[in-house]
Amino acid sequence: MAPHAVTDDEGVPEPSTNGVEERYKGHRSLPVPEPCLSYWHRTTRAFPYLNENSDEEVPTSTKYLIIGSGLSGSFTAWSLVDSGVPGSDIVILEAREAVSGASGRNAGHCRPDAFRGFSAYAKVHGAEQAKKIVENEKLVFEKLDAFVREHEVPCDLNSTTTFDVCLTPEFAAYEKESFEAYKAAGGDVFHVNFYEGDEARSRTKVKEAVAAYEWPAGSSHPAKLGQWLLTAVITKGVHLWTHCPATAVSKHLSRDMVETPRWNVRTPRGTIAAETVVHCTNAYASYLLPQLSTFVTPNRAQAHTFIRIASLSGAKALDKTMSLRYSLRHFFSFMQRQGGWYCSLWHFAQQPGVERGDDPKHIYNHEIAATAAKAFQSLFVEAESKQRRHGEGADHYWTGIIAMTPDSVPMIGAVDGMDGQWICAGFNGHGMARIWTCAPGLVKLIKGEPWSATGLPECFEYSKERLEKNKNQELKSVW
Ligand SMILES: Cc1cc2nc3c(=O)[nH]c(=O)nc-3n(C[C@H](O)[C@H](O)[C@H](O)COP(=O)(O)OP(=O)(O)OC[C@H]3O[C@@H](n4cnc5c(N)ncnc54)[C@H](O)[C@@H]3O)c2cc1C
Repeated sequence: MAPHAVTDDEGVPEPSTNGVEERYKGHRSLPVPEPCLSYWHRTTRAFPYLNENSDEEVPTSTKYLIIGSGLSGSFTAWSLVDSGVPGSDIVILEAREAVSGASGRNAGHCRPDAFRGFSAYAKVHGAEQAKKIVENEKLVFEKLDAFVREHEVPCDLNSTTTFDVCLTPEFAAYEKESFEAYKAAGGDVFHVNFYEGDEARSRTKVKEAVAAYEWPAGSSHPAKLGQWLLTAVITKGVHLWTHCPATAVSKHLSRDMVETPRWNVRTPRGTIAAETVVHCTNAYASYLLPQLSTFVTPNRAQAHTFIRIASLSGAKALDKTMSLRYSLRHFFSFMQRQGGWYCSLWHFAQQPGVERGDDPKHIYNHEIAATAAKAFQSLFVEAESKQRRHGEGADHYWTGIIAMTPDSVPMIGAVDGMDGQWICAGFNGHGMARIWTCAPGLVKLIKGEPWSATGLPECFEYSKERLEKNKNQELKSVW
């Protein structure tokens, strides 16, 4: 990183809700400084880079500046280094501890959509794009699985299968329709098994199961995965600054240099001039990119861990993951880890404007925790009657932020009109099933390759037209 003069910031956009629709007021915020800890955070407190460079002044310049140390930020750094960029040319800024965002507080599921989202995506993006979206998720799981094996990443990856368990006839009908539509569009369903009635109940152990679909998926310890990636890139020279939020990005005005970095990124510990700025800021993206205020929006989600009760332990333990579904938006995700616990996730209803998802003052919602605990106790065939022992059952609850977009797909690519700024965000609660292709895809674009080289669905690409088209759209989650 060559030191050089940094000119004053000009036209720094200060966060304001001016011009933003009433329903999205308050969306633009930095991450809260002292978020609650997830199960994953609690079990990785000795990560040596957790508070890396937390008191240091930032360097005055860098070639590549990545904002955000979650999976999208760390895998973008990995992919840049993999493409030949020297690690020493890359700085990662993280507002809080390393991997303190959604990547360290999700449900750990890498659960590709096998067909369910097809009909909903097709309504928004057309059948061809919808097929590509679903195919891309399958590819992500295969790539993640291969990556973890190749590099022997100690992230407790459990490569297994998952069930979509339909708990009502209505939802079974919805799934069937999507399955048939995906198949008719040429979608590959060879890897999907279907069960009905008693067979669905016996295979899933879920009492209310009407039908179930099963396909390959996995679960992991997502904080260990993110921390491993950070360690790997830091070992290759990448610089990480934690507790160092980027507070503004503005045009760099060069006076006399030949090779001019294009953007000044302001932080509380100095300003960095960067040629390339990559926004991997999840639902906080619009703090620095106000044009996204109504597009990449924060929604709060809650996760829980439960220690296995006797009737689901030992040889009776389930090794599959599952989504137990009453409807598209009313569902529980369960996965059982070797370590002996279940993780259950229940998404909050759409709450535009709720941006403080991991706020220590609102650590979790009691009603949702109680609902999840009840579901854990009652839904499984064998989990109902036995008296609990001390240490079994509810263990830990926490929340985090999910970045939603009105067209349900991520925002990847060059930020229009801001040459040298790029974005990889807006994963709609599917980051684990999307980042593994989106981050390397973005790096191809940064290195000058065309969109076709990314292999990503075209509808993922950032464009002003996309923002404009979806300006007045309601959120349509395709979970
Ligand atoms: C409770 C919960 C359960 C989930 N379950 C699943 C699941 O089972 N499967 C799945 O696929 N997905 C799941 N998700 C979604 C998944 O976690 C995300 O899609 C994914 O982690 C997004 O990764 P990211 O790197 O984009 O964001 P993050 O991991 O949030 O990283 C963004 C980082 O940027 C930092 N940051 C933001 N603004 C700034 C700034 N201005 N300056 C510096 N740093 C900044 C943040 O502090 C944060 O660390 C879940 C999410 C939650 C909250």
